[in-house]
Amino acid sequence: MKIYGLNKTTLLDYPGHVAAAVFLGGCNCRCPFCQNGDLVLRPESQAEIGEEELFAFLKKRKGILSGVCITGGEPTLEKELGELAGKIKEMGYLVKLDTNGLRPEVVGELLEDGLLDYIAMDVKNSMERYGETVGLEKIDVGKIRETIDLMMASGIDYEFRTTVVKELHGKKDMEAIGEEIRGAKAYFLQSYQESQGVIAPVFHSYSREEMEELAEAVRPFVPCAQVRG
Ligand code: SF4
Repeated sequence: MKIYGLNKTTLLDYPGHVAAAVFLGGCNCRCPFCQNGDLVLRPESQAEIGEEELFAFLKKRKGILSGVCITGGEPTLEKELGELAGKIKEMGYLVKLDTNGLRPEVVGELLEDGLLDYIAMDVKNSMERYGETVGLEKIDVGKIRETIDLMMASGIDYEFRTTVVKELHGKKDMEAIGEEIRGAKAYFLQSYQESQGVIAPVFHSYSREEMEELAEAVRPFVPCAQVRG
């Protein structure tokens, strides 16, 4: 398995836990606002970390860290994801998965095998604008809905989140997202931030006030919707 990065300590990625983040390369989406352009488009250009190095690190940090986030790219593309999650859990860590939700069959299998403690899924936009938002001409939004349903029925902790981009998300889109995840126990709106790694740096962000208004549009469906950051 190819591991393309390790964030040794993060307080932001696993709610309520001091965690490490493990980055897997490649993605089945091409979100133009993606912050990890190199990891998605050119994973081979990134420095690799051996599994041995990762597990030696986790062994040393037992008792200091409590969780490990498996992120990307899109981790569900990795054939050995279950094995990785299993080994991390065996060491006594909680495992969080970040996913774009396009591979419900993988998420379902991991859940069945009891390998996940937390899932964070990006709900990119209203189903109408999904393809445009993830940079794909064709997309099966049924897969997105399937992952949403799996997560909400899973009994484990989870969150949905949306990176909100001025050019891609309006009030109607946010309402439509709310309908898709009606009753979810956690939903966050995150403002788009331009950075060097963005695939297509042509977008803009909303002001804090505008973000709060968009969160308000979601609350009839998801009362706990919050602006993050
Ligand atoms: S934002 Fe996420 S889903 Fe979109 S291209 Fe980047 S890694 Fe893939």
